Amino acid sequence: MRFHIITIFPEMFDSYLKESILGRAIENKLVSVKFYNPMSFCKPKERVDGRPYGGGPGMVLRPELFLKAFQIASSAIRRRGGKKTKIILFSTSGKKFDTSYAKISAKKYTDVILISGRYEGIDARVQKILKAEEISIGDYVLTGGELPAMVLIDSISRQIPGVLGRYESLEEERVSSSEVYTRPEVLKYKNKNYRVPKVLLSGNHKLIDEWKKKEL
Ligand code: SAM
Repeated sequence: MRFHIITIFPEMFDSYLKESILGRAIENKLVSVKFYNPMSFCKPKERVDGRPYGGGPGMVLRPELFLKAFQIASSAIRRRGGKKTKIILFSTSGKKFDTSYAKISAKKYTDVILISGRYEGIDARVQKILKAEEISIGDYVLTGGELPAMVLIDSISRQIPGVLGRYESLEEERVSSSEVYTRPEVLKYKNKNYRVPKVLLSGNHKLIDEWKKKEL
């Protein structure tokens, strides 16, 4: 899977993509992430944003620069023989992202273009021209689309065969619980003992799975 991120803040992704499971997936060439910065198409002294028509606070990201970045991403995809590309533009009012969206995307596409907004957002004509799907990662307003892009990269990559090792195997395919324990069996904290639930020590996997399901 190849992700193509259009963002004016590509450096924000550096540390997240370097570490752990995603870092390994990129090193093993199961996933690749490329950046296209609309700012790099600004002429000297030009700004990446402009004042909004109709007034109001906050600046709007200029459409020509985002379309230029998109064209460069598209050419790169064509050169690499990309077979099926999805275009996503992050928006607070977009369709809500979830695991089933991640699963479908991992199966269906060779390339995903993720367009991250900032400030008041990207001039709406970009979405209209590209017919990009607007996606939201939740009912809250973030300062930009970079965190949403990282969320999608993480969640879609987990669905790609070989990305997760044996120990991190797909949560969605096994019985798992968010309530988890490790050693010690009895944790002492401020004169109180905190014990691991007995069922987890029983060795009875049927009972353990039932307990995990109840905790979900
Ligand atoms: N007034 C704008 C609005 O309601 O859409 C706020 C824009 S927000 C400060 C800047 C950018 O962050 C958005 O254009 C979008 O790309 C991204 N963004 C913020 N919250 C998001 C969310 N929950 N899901 C997806 N993208 C989000």
